[in-house]
Amino acid sequence: MSKPSPEVYERGKGMDAHNEVMRGIRAQKDAQYDPHEPTRVWIDEDNTPGGVYQSLTIILNTGGCRWARAGGCTMCGYVAESVEGGSVTHEALMDQIDVCLDHERENADEESGLVKIYTSGSFLDEREVGAETRRAIAETFGDRERIVVESLPDFVEREKLADFTEQGLDTDVAIGLETATDRVRHDCVNKYFDFEEFVAASEAADEAGAGVKAYLLMKPPFLSESEAIEDMKSSVRRCAEHAHTVSMNPTNVQRYTMVDELYFRDGYRPPWLWSVAEVLEDTADADAIVVSDPVGHGSDRGPHNCGDCDDRVQKAIKDFDLRQDPSVFSEVDCECEATWEAVVERETAYSLPLAR
Ligand code: SF4
Ligand SMILES: [Zn+2]
Repeated sequence: MSKPSPEVYERGKGMDAHNEVMRGIRAQKDAQYDPHEPTRVWIDEDNTPGGVYQSLTIILNTGGCRWARAGGCTMCGYVAESVEGGSVTHEALMDQIDVCLDHERENADEESGLVKIYTSGSFLDEREVGAETRRAIAETFGDRERIVVESLPDFVEREKLADFTEQGLDTDVAIGLETATDRVRHDCVNKYFDFEEFVAASEAADEAGAGVKAYLLMKPPFLSESEAIEDMKSSVRRCAEHAHTVSMNPTNVQRYTMVDELYFRDGYRPPWLWSVAEVLEDTADADAIVVSDPVGHGSDRGPHNCGDCDDRVQKAIKDFDLRQDPSVFSEVDCECEATWEAVVERETAYSLPLAR
């Protein structure tokens, strides 16, 4: 059984009570993965400042998020320590990249212009991915157009990003900011950094000639539907000042999380898809590409409406992602909009959730 525990770096960050609960929950999960296999790989399509690209998305297995080991974010079900010993060697990481290249050859007619690398942690943290591996990966994908690497803001440094920009790649750092509101990030998500650190990271990226893609989380636990909507509207606008792309993603209920415990006890409902549409429509004039990928849409554990209209609203959201045209939302309606409006008007943080 994995026993999450904070290393010195993580100690004293976040909320002690949240960390303690999350450590207890994560300790119930016992999973080990092969360090020579990526966590996941898939081919998709993405809207970027350089246009719409076929994308190769890679989730590298680097041994698990260090923050998760300390307890970590209330909605995140990633395993705290997913490989024996907690770290993955250069050779094993490069094997994972080979598996991803094979996957691309088998599943796409051409090479993807965009490569996105996530680690469920920080690709730029050298304890997860060493400098040698980072440079080798930059070379491997040096002939593509764009690359996105995920990192917490602490590890974003000009020199590290230069490995990619020097290959001639349009480079972006994906930062899981979750919200621009420090209080919500600390108290609801249990993420330890401040908005200011995100701004500093975006400045470091800018110095390296790289851009920022900010990830936001709609409706962490303890917020009502209307508070979640307002939090996202202001977050999208504040992020747009520092990031060229904002990806606003609704919370889904993952196993082995605090959100799951609340959901199980009828204390949490994922956001309505109408709320996602409302934020996208309202912030369409923000100076950034704003997209959303409602994972698990239409299911009880994912963002959902009444069951009848979920696929249609999801399709409108995906259309908006590619075209950035808010009129797509005027083409969908459903009787459940009235229920959603009542929830937005009446639900409070101490009466959650008002409707399922
Ligand atoms: S959301 Fe990211 S930082 Fe938070 S615990 Fe999960 S992997 Fe770690
Ligand atoms: Zn409906």
